[in-house]
Amino acid sequence: MAKAWLNGFLVVSLLAVSGAALTGCESADDSNPAVSGGHAPGSTQAVGTPDNPSGLPGGATPNGNTMVIGVKYVALRNSAGDAPSPTQDQVVALFQNMSQVWSQCDIQFRVEAYSSPVASADGQPYYPANQSDLEAMRGKYDDHAHALYVRSGTWNRSGDLGNDGSNGFSTIPPSNPEGTVFEQSVQTATLLLAHETGHLIGGLGHLSDSTSLMNHFVSPTNTQLSQWECDDTRAAMRQYHAAWIR
Ligand SMILES: [Zn+2]
Repeated sequence: MAKAWLNGFLVVSLLAVSGAALTGCESADDSNPAVSGGHAPGSTQAVGTPDNPSGLPGGATPNGNTMVIGVKYVALRNSAGDAPSPTQDQVVALFQNMSQVWSQCDIQFRVEAYSSPVASADGQPYYPANQSDLEAMRGKYDDHAHALYVRSGTWNRSGDLGNDGSNGFSTIPPSNPEGTVFEQSVQTATLLLAHETGHLIGGLGHLSDSTSLMNHFVSPTNTQLSQWECDDTRAAMRQYHAAWIR
């Protein structure tokens, strides 16, 4: 697939998240299997201690139109002596922030499954090098009942994951298995993961609009989802991911 990469560096703040975001993403392809990638060095967010375990953004109240999506987050560890990272609380905070981004579509996320297995114990490489490694992780952890997010160690750039800065790849429906896999440096990068979520849950492609969340270049000013993107995402959720809807 053709790739379009933009170089740049931004330091801005959004959703009380400070950090640098530089993200490009491979052109989305609706064929199956399809993957799309993005990269955003750095861009971690402040640790929060959410008091709302449902994953709903603070102050947001679900209404009859709200689509709540169940999430499974797998934070791989390299060895049993490593502390889980991010923690479950950090993941809940991440998805509260992602729910704020996706509130434009009246979509919210609820973290229902969190685990931090040792990669080797599950037969997975901690430092993946190839798309086949990411696909194996999806096959291992996709339970077909949750939107899947797998955080690996830093990618080994010697394989076909490449060395262009990409650090997240998502499937596009219909795919089996499905999931977003990303490396440690972006494990709580709200906008990168919100962008990847557009591919994962809605099959959304890229847009050139400089304000769009689905722009190749994800920065703190790329946050918008259009009405038709919301409509497409909700339709794709119902068609392909009914089991993820709560
Ligand atoms: Zn993308």
